[in-house]
Amino acid sequence: AAAPAKDYLSRLNDGQRLAVEHGDGGVASPLLIIAGAGSGKTNTLAHRVAHLIVKGADPRRILLMTFSRRAAGEMSKRVERIAAEVMGDRAKALTEGLTWAGTFHSVGARLLRDYALEIGLDAAFTIHDREDSADLMNLVRHDLGLSKTESRFPAKGTCLSIYSRTVNGQAELEPVLGKYFPWCAGWAVELKQLFAAYVDAKQAQNVLDYDDLLLWWAQMCAEPAIAEHLGSRFDHVLVDEYQDTNRLQAAILTAMKPDGRGLTVVGDDAQSIYSFRAAEVRNILDFPNLFPEPAGVVTLDRNYRSTDAILSAANAVIGEAPERFAKTLWTDRRSAEKPAIVTVRDEAGQATFVCDKILEAREEGIALKSQAVLFRAAHHSGPLEVELTRRNIPFVKFGGLKFLDSAHVKDMLAVLRFAENPRDRVAGFRVLQLMPGIGPSAAANAMEAMERALDPALGLQFFRPPARAETDWPDFAALFSGLRQKPAWPADLERARLWYEPHLERTHEDAAVRRADLLQLEQIAAGYPSRERFLTDLTLDPPDAVSDEAGPPHLDDDYLILSTIHSAKGQEWTKVFVLNAVDGCIPIDLAVGEKEEIEEERRLLYVAMTRAKDSLSLVAPQRFFVHGQAARGDRHVYAARTRFIPDHILGQFTRSAWPPPSAAQGRGPQPDVRVDLKAKMRGIWR
Ligand code: ATP
Ligand code: MG
Repeated sequence: AAAPAKDYLSRLNDGQRLAVEHGDGGVASPLLIIAGAGSGKTNTLAHRVAHLIVKGADPRRILLMTFSRRAAGEMSKRVERIAAEVMGDRAKALTEGLTWAGTFHSVGARLLRDYALEIGLDAAFTIHDREDSADLMNLVRHDLGLSKTESRFPAKGTCLSIYSRTVNGQAELEPVLGKYFPWCAGWAVELKQLFAAYVDAKQAQNVLDYDDLLLWWAQMCAEPAIAEHLGSRFDHVLVDEYQDTNRLQAAILTAMKPDGRGLTVVGDDAQSIYSFRAAEVRNILDFPNLFPEPAGVVTLDRNYRSTDAILSAANAVIGEAPERFAKTLWTDRRSAEKPAIVTVRDEAGQATFVCDKILEAREEGIALKSQAVLFRAAHHSGPLEVELTRRNIPFVKFGGLKFLDSAHVKDMLAVLRFAENPRDRVAGFRVLQLMPGIGPSAAANAMEAMERALDPALGLQFFRPPARAETDWPDFAALFSGLRQKPAWPADLERARLWYEPHLERTHEDAAVRRADLLQLEQIAAGYPSRERFLTDLTLDPPDAVSDEAGPPHLDDDYLILSTIHSAKGQEWTKVFVLNAVDGCIPIDLAVGEKEEIEEERRLLYVAMTRAKDSLSLVAPQRFFVHGQAARGDRHVYAARTRFIPDHILGQFTRSAWPPPSAAQGRGPQPDVRVDLKAKMRGIWR
């Protein structure tokens, strides 16, 4: 009989309980939970962590990793709630010790600062986001003369993708080029030279890019003494969404826990959607046999999320996949409402349809927060965002454009980064050139002067800028030395803004709106203990863009979620709309014919469909707008229903058109005639 004190266990089904109690709170043999969407994997993981804590594990020795800061935050809250059921108020104090919950990248950044001394790294390193990395790649490309003499050399973004894929896949360059970038295969020699110089540049400037956070961590783990120290620091290492980890991440885990003890990984191979970033579904499939001691494997087959109609349609879609780890999911949530495929005329029609339905649902008591609109690519929601704004429907958008992507917010962060690490040239170029009269060469000279000086702040102060910049220079020099010598958090950000505001007003018509963003940034900053943590976190996982110029809606306000399918993973809503369920959008591009890529698109549709609890609509515009491809210009293309719903599974859906033809045109049934007016018109002049 379950003691009342352990009530949370009685809520779980047998498989879930097995996973939670595996090792019963102690350090146990490796554990894999592999199961379909909505079967309670994440919920089970949260219960497992809470159970460990209830049983006396030290929360500071638990490492919990998932795919976003938001997901990690939600998981920590859930752990606290569960633990509180048995421990009452004591749970809060304990779960506050669960400080090692985050993404692989953020955990990597923290560990690297911790071990900086041991591995010859300067702990004051700054982190480059993808855009900064591409900029640095570009600088190096220019320095090597590759962009000039070799005019057809791959663009900076392509170079970075090749580099990143090679690093994360732990692969050699040539096969990566052959497989994913065949048009660049002739540049292998130059690319190697470029990447070597890129690595040198990062070291000279004391910056790490996203990939470095994993690569340095993995390299650190290759040193037995450090690996052992690291591994013994954590009793339990748990990872959610394991199907989307890459080889580097798997290598890190096995290096930290070579015998697998204390390791728990959770995932669903049918939801692997990040192979374009070198994620490796084999990680999860091979996990059971990786360690001397076989891993415990728990599969869960009951779906608690969706109605049977939605689940069966989703199962039909994924059932068309040629190969996968066979799983069946069942649910006892009955519903007569099949998922809908709704044909609309174009994207404008799609936007009106979705807004109408969302408002209708809200009238019926389904809050905006319980509804979500999902799409394959961030720009697919453009017309909808316009319509939502027009109708005053508040929304938050996940994935795609981030708050951080706006130039003024990046400027502000670059000021802090430059002060934190004056060798960071990408930050330096960005900041110095904000001053009128400073161009790339003056900026480069100033940075060289700073490097030569004993103290970079003095180097900056005594540098003689071009005449036009002379009046602005002292203010910046004062700001810079203040930020370095008397750092004060979060006041630093306000100091930086006060310096920046005149520049903002000079260069932007909408300075007031941008200033509001910066004030919002200061609010976010207030939630961070230090400048360094703030910069690290924001660079790794920037806050999402919001609809409202006044900043994100308060948490208790009601707002709609817009999200790319990638960013929606792990989440659920009562009502879900999927935009552009047509070939060319899902799968994204008719041109990518690679079988594996198409299969990944199929899994994406499966992920999208399995987010829905009660109601699911796939919207299919009959035509949509394609932006200028060189010779053909902007144009409309006609679209067909996504190939992932072939005729023989159509029975799983209801089909309708919106607006219904008669209502739209105010006409009755079609007259039963066919005439060729075109021929008749041509005949008139003959
Ligand atoms: P995904 O593959 O999409 O990440 P998941 O397997 O992680 O899904 P969860 O998000 O953990 O699934 O759970 C899906 C839903 O089912 C949640 O609303 C959760 O609260 C509910 N749930 C999970 N387990 C149970 C249970 N034993 N009893 C009742 N509800 C449950
Ligand atoms: Mg989950």
